[in-house]
Amino acid sequence: LVSRMRGFGTTIFAEMSALAERTGAINLGQGFPDTDGPPALLARAAEGITGGVNQYPPGPGTPELRRAVAAARRERYGLDYDPASEVYVTVGATAGIAAAILAITEPGDEIVLFEPMYDSYAAAIAMAGGVRRPVTLRPRGGEGGRFAFDPEELRAAVGPRTRAVLVNSPHNPTGTVLTAAELAVIAQLCREHDLVAVTDEVYEYLTYDGAEHVPLATLPGMRERTLAISSTGKTFSVTGWKTGWVMGPPELVDAVRTVNQFLTYTANPALQLAVAEALETQEDWIARLATGLAAKRDRLSAGLREAGFRVFGTQGTYFVLTDIRPLGFDDGLALAHRLPELCGVVGVPAQVFYDDAEEGRPYLRFAFCKRDEVIDDAVARLARLR
Ligand code: PMP
Ligand code: GLN
Repeated sequence: LVSRMRGFGTTIFAEMSALAERTGAINLGQGFPDTDGPPALLARAAEGITGGVNQYPPGPGTPELRRAVAAARRERYGLDYDPASEVYVTVGATAGIAAAILAITEPGDEIVLFEPMYDSYAAAIAMAGGVRRPVTLRPRGGEGGRFAFDPEELRAAVGPRTRAVLVNSPHNPTGTVLTAAELAVIAQLCREHDLVAVTDEVYEYLTYDGAEHVPLATLPGMRERTLAISSTGKTFSVTGWKTGWVMGPPELVDAVRTVNQFLTYTANPALQLAVAEALETQEDWIARLATGLAAKRDRLSAGLREAGFRVFGTQGTYFVLTDIRPLGFDDGLALAHRLPELCGVVGVPAQVFYDDAEEGRPYLRFAFCKRDEVIDDAVARLARLR
């Protein structure tokens, strides 16, 4: 293995799901729902496969999906993208993020991003020979508080070698949804220093209590410098489908195309057609999903609090982040490995999402995208930790 990829080992999600499998523990680790997506979406994909939609679609994606993505973007956020030159379909957001980073990063270029950071970011930057410059999100406002960055720390992270800022909101693993004011600080820096923004918006539809997802590209001067990335998995509860897309100005999207044509070339056509239709027809289903997830968040958060965790507020995503110190533990990584034996539950140690391991040490992430009875069972087991 090349030196720049050493240390990446096995992803924490694979490791924790294997641990759950091995021990029979309830898996609140890796974020995937335990119920299926909209029946019409599933049926359409099956029809496509049995109906002959099985050969290479156009490299940039089927025209139907690119049109549907552009239409949804216009309707929700008032952002106009030309489906032909400004929308590009990838194998999940993961491939889109990797292709975007590979397309814009010269060896030695710095990418500013926020920690805790989703694990594929560090790996993609390493593959590109780039250098990551993390800015730490810290909890604000006591019990139930959200995570936020210090604008001065963000400013200080930008230097002459900075190429891009990578922003994930709604944010995994903290559940934070960045506010308009926070986005304005990021946008200002991008304009000042002529940076590209790469935005990971895979949880764009999963926000709660009126928290609003605002794409960075909607801010002044940002559309022309932003590669916005989203995907199907979370929106339609089909995380295995790995159908995503990149949106941006033609030059940036063309750079992504140049790279991605040699990574995956294209993505499954039957799934693309099914997703295109669902984006146009399943708005109510998505709204119900978000309402249901908000209730699950409350259910799990209350149970975790009852079990003795400090529980942070979650405005979006599948996840609640907890602090384990009130229970008398101080190392989330160690506790995550012992949790199946202690109480029969698996969570994800947030420490692995930090360069500064000390910052992430006391946090454990739990997924609430599960059936109520599974959450209740997990909560009852976690109560044994006291
Ligand atoms: N970004 C974030 C923040 C995620 O949580 C995930 C995981 N689902 C992804 C990207 C990957 O998305 P996809 O499955 O579409 O590749
Ligand atoms: N996004 C999922 C999570 O954060 C995991 C996806 C994966 O396993 N790569 O749990």
